[in-house]
Amino acid sequence: MALLDLGYPAHEYKTTRKSYRGTSLQQFYEAFPTDDACLDHMFRIRFLKDGCPKCGGFGDWYRLEGLRSFHHQLCHSNRSPTADTLLNGTRIPLQLWFYAMLHFTNSSHGLSRTFIHRHLGIAQYNAFRMCRQIRYQMAALDDSAILGGHDRPVFVRLEKVSPIVRQTKGKHAYARVMIANDGSAVRTVVITKSNPNFVRDALRSKAHPDSPIVTDCTSTFGLLSDSTSKWKIRYHPRILELYPELWQQNYGFLKYFLLMLRTQHKGVSHHRLWLYLKEAEFRYSRRQRSHETFWDLVAQFPILTPERKRGLERRNIFG
Ligand SMILES: [Zn+2]
Repeated sequence: MALLDLGYPAHEYKTTRKSYRGTSLQQFYEAFPTDDACLDHMFRIRFLKDGCPKCGGFGDWYRLEGLRSFHHQLCHSNRSPTADTLLNGTRIPLQLWFYAMLHFTNSSHGLSRTFIHRHLGIAQYNAFRMCRQIRYQMAALDDSAILGGHDRPVFVRLEKVSPIVRQTKGKHAYARVMIANDGSAVRTVVITKSNPNFVRDALRSKAHPDSPIVTDCTSTFGLLSDSTSKWKIRYHPRILELYPELWQQNYGFLKYFLLMLRTQHKGVSHHRLWLYLKEAEFRYSRRQRSHETFWDLVAQFPILTPERKRGLERRNIFG
């Protein structure tokens, strides 16, 4: 029996409020009616479009019966499209993973693992791992996108984020997060120590070197301005009048993230905070085209080996 067939045709409610759109369950079911459809989708993206990971050749593949693998006749190797991705080694049906991704992109403020555990009928640990892997996927997809550019200002501020779960008494009641945006997307970095070098490196990793940098926060300005640096940094107490969109986007994101943290998670640990920020960034930066968020999440399947995950963490926590 089909897993998600509710028996009515695909439909999308088209509202003029772009951020209110989404991807309906029936649209999802039309694209991914079975586990095999999900596997074929990944196969097309990873092996047909990009070529064989071993020999680089195109074409001449066939599916190995009863397995999630394909045989490449040019180099005689067996390959699975799920290997080294967020779905590496999973025993959970692929359609359930895709369904969880649909929920992550359609929800306003994210999901807790308890919801996924109840809703998909999977064990608590599996739900925990599934949520974490989906957040890694979101982090990897947007990792190479850089803010700003020549004559394209980037607004930046350091903000305090709480509640952060305390692991040692007296430590980490809140976290310091650098929030930056250029009007189209938001990028964040967790700052462990407010040392000027760490803050500058954090901004360098997210913003184009030619971008004019603006802030309305004296301490952020103090940490970033440096006579030896080539950054053009400008402090202005009334940024709202100068760049209303940039100001609103930063504050909008902070409000959005704090609500997500408090309602869905009741606080997260300091070393995992960056992953939750990536999830919020992924949805928030696409809110003007929210009907595409799900399709963006399944449009590519980046490599997520433990090494790659550590690399992502290093690019999002400084200090
Ligand atoms: Zn090959």
